Amino acid sequence: MSGRVYLIGAGPGDEGLITVKGLNCVKEANVIVYDRLIPQALLRYAPSTAEFIFVGKSPEKHTLTQEEINDLLIEQAEQGKIIARLKGGDPFVFGRGGEEVIALKEHNIPFEVVPGITSAVAAPMYAGIPVTHRGLSSSFAVITGHEDPDKAESSISWQDLALESGTLCFLMGVGNLSRIVDNLLAHGKDSETPIALVRWGTRPYQKTLTGTLSNIVEKAKSENFKSPAVIIIGEVVNLREQLAWFEKKPFFNKNILVTRARSQASELSYKISQLGGQPVEFPTIKIEKPDTYQPLDEAIKKLAEYNWLVFTSVNGVKHFFNRLENLDYDCRQLAGLKTCAIGSKTKESLEEKGIKADVVPQEYRAEALIDLMKEQVKSGDRVLIPRAKEAREVLPEALREQGLKVDVITAYETVKDTKDTEKVRKMLKQNELDAITFTSSSTVKNFVEVLELNVGLNEPGAVLANTHIACIGPITASTCQQYGIEVNSIANEYTIPGLVESLIDNLDENVEEEFK
Ligand code: SAH
Repeated sequence: MSGRVYLIGAGPGDEGLITVKGLNCVKEANVIVYDRLIPQALLRYAPSTAEFIFVGKSPEKHTLTQEEINDLLIEQAEQGKIIARLKGGDPFVFGRGGEEVIALKEHNIPFEVVPGITSAVAAPMYAGIPVTHRGLSSSFAVITGHEDPDKAESSISWQDLALESGTLCFLMGVGNLSRIVDNLLAHGKDSETPIALVRWGTRPYQKTLTGTLSNIVEKAKSENFKSPAVIIIGEVVNLREQLAWFEKKPFFNKNILVTRARSQASELSYKISQLGGQPVEFPTIKIEKPDTYQPLDEAIKKLAEYNWLVFTSVNGVKHFFNRLENLDYDCRQLAGLKTCAIGSKTKESLEEKGIKADVVPQEYRAEALIDLMKEQVKSGDRVLIPRAKEAREVLPEALREQGLKVDVITAYETVKDTKDTEKVRKMLKQNELDAITFTSSSTVKNFVEVLELNVGLNEPGAVLANTHIACIGPITASTCQQYGIEVNSIANEYTIPGLVESLIDNLDENVEEEFK
């Protein structure tokens, strides 16, 4: 197939606001060419082999000129590649998408344009401002605020805009705010007309400033309000008092650190985003293959000799079944064995493999599993536990005390991941982290070690004193306490939803009741 370009509107910032069609194009692309204002999180949907080319323009510097971007698209497409050209908002709303399409057409390069949600509508919407509203505004205009102030002949009809009773949405206008306001007032717009500035709309750190044409310039100056923002002018701005919703989410404007391994972070990160927060993924550990699979392979071959198979984690299930399949077996190899799963996620991942666990403790603790198994085991039963190399000894020892023969086999290893340490150190220093979540004792231990919080004169408790510490359960919390780290919330139910719930309850006392 010949090369082609998908010109895609990536939406205003909340990664969920790209279209299904746009996302499918990203998943299919060989090359992703992207701008500054797109949600960067979208890049992770690209194939792992994709090439990423940043062509963003920022107010300070131009990385590539528009012409160079056009040439780049043409050159890549002529090599037969599929290009996802991601633009913020909608590609044809001040996105210069039209120019790129014209250039492609001139070179006979196949293209498609995928519409996006424009910030002109979405930023006010996330601030509780509908651009039209029955009885208040029956139209809206989207206007560039970037016009050169020294331009002799303005292409904007300020006269018409001043008379317009509908909503005015200016993009790229923060730097020109006073000129926009002056022009409207000079042409007769009422100085009491409400106005709002919405910066980084739809993102967890969205900021909204409201006022009237008479005082907004002063307000924006004293708040040092910066771009990128949409300026909304009209009576609809007052609806914000009733309709604001996004900014009331429990984690709005909060940076919450996720210390889980990257492969397991998505559920927690997604929940944090859904609740209006910014997840900051800092996987201090990564899951890797063990040095050798030989002991696990041997155990799988002799599986019929065991009576019990105990899984203590999703990773244990995953690696065990990978090996099982690798050895050309399937789940029938488990026939006749009783299975245990610690935790609901482990149980679910086992179900995905066609195995219904016989014993699933309600509590996410090894001790609880032992209580349940007691009734069903016979002395001398053989137990296989495929799990992490460096797990706690409580479970196998307690089972042995019941007279069972236990083999603990390494199915995977957890190793340290130091990639983002500098970034997180800086955030801690600048008090930019509102909460840190720990989902196991090993995440605590690795966090402390990777950041060297206990090296020299450092004290983990002192470094983390201003940050809310949230733990998935009492064992994780006691590991924190061993390091002198004060814990602020402990989940009642030892799961990710339980952790999130306890964070909602404890992170911010001002959280609205409706979210609890
Ligand atoms: N094609 C884009 C607009 C590109 S022009 C769209 O449809 O949204 C760039 C301007 O868009 C910025 O200067 C700012 O005014 C606005 N903008 C883009 N994303 C924004 C966001 N998340 N919040 C507020 N304004 C945004």
